Amino acid sequence: MRVRTLAVALLAGGLALTACGKEGSPGDTGSAPTQQVAADVKVDGSPTFEKMKSRGKVIVGVKEDQPGLGYKDPTSGKFTGFDIEIAKLVAAKLGFESDKIEYKAIASQGREQALINGDVDYYVGTYTINAKRKEQVGFAGPYFTAGQDLLVKKDDNSITGPDTLKGKKVCSVTGSTPIQKVKTEGLTEPENIVELQNYSQCVTQLEQGAVDAVTTDDAILKGYASQDPSKFKVVGKTFSSEPYGIGLPKDDKALRDKINDILEAAINGGDWQAVYDNTLGKSGSTANKPVLERY
Ligand code: GLU
Repeated sequence: MRVRTLAVALLAGGLALTACGKEGSPGDTGSAPTQQVAADVKVDGSPTFEKMKSRGKVIVGVKEDQPGLGYKDPTSGKFTGFDIEIAKLVAAKLGFESDKIEYKAIASQGREQALINGDVDYYVGTYTINAKRKEQVGFAGPYFTAGQDLLVKKDDNSITGPDTLKGKKVCSVTGSTPIQKVKTEGLTEPENIVELQNYSQCVTQLEQGAVDAVTTDDAILKGYASQDPSKFKVVGKTFSSEPYGIGLPKDDKALRDKINDILEAAINGGDWQAVYDNTLGKSGSTANKPVLERY
């Protein structure tokens, strides 16, 4: 299956944590239409924007193994998904077309440090806004809200929600909010928690029968289930609220305000809906329009 192939390829290449890539084949102009060029756009007082402008391209942190959200096609090297489209939309409004975007795959555990180090200008990858993370990074958004759920084998009727996980092996990812919840709420015994770097690695473990469930956001799990509906199902009882934000360097309020303006215009003007319908919406789920948190 594709997920396993990808996970194996990542491991073989030693790229489980990070990998870089420019998107697209020659001539790919991407899907975010705009007439703007970087020189026309001003974000007064934003050191991050100045850096992007003098570099002549944007470096965006993303996920590469989450189909429907942030996914790198192993053959073409092209990135697709809802988060990728949101990243492109923001870049376009900042004056950077698709060919001026460099994607850098950063796993959940590495996000804060990548932003602190300035390895990426901003991060779009199922990144939940919360108070603890806000001590280290800034967030624009939310641009979507997911909820923690469970992925199990298609024929497993013993796991029906978070209160049925005792005695079951549960896999999630280091540095994520779902692994935190499994631990702090004791959803299963410590020896039954399997902690890996990427969700696709957890899905491989589930496929091989080494774990009984994978837990993370429903939006992520639906992507894996839809790739292999004969093998997996999402339980469908969410037990948290995960508002997705665009991660930013903590003190760059000017860029945060600008990206919130961009998101607001996209939400009110229809671009957000179009992006959603072309990506996550294809799995049949409907999304409430997000309400921005400005701070
Ligand atoms: N949204 C959750 C988080 O930010 C889980 C997904 C992820 O690890 O990216 O931790």
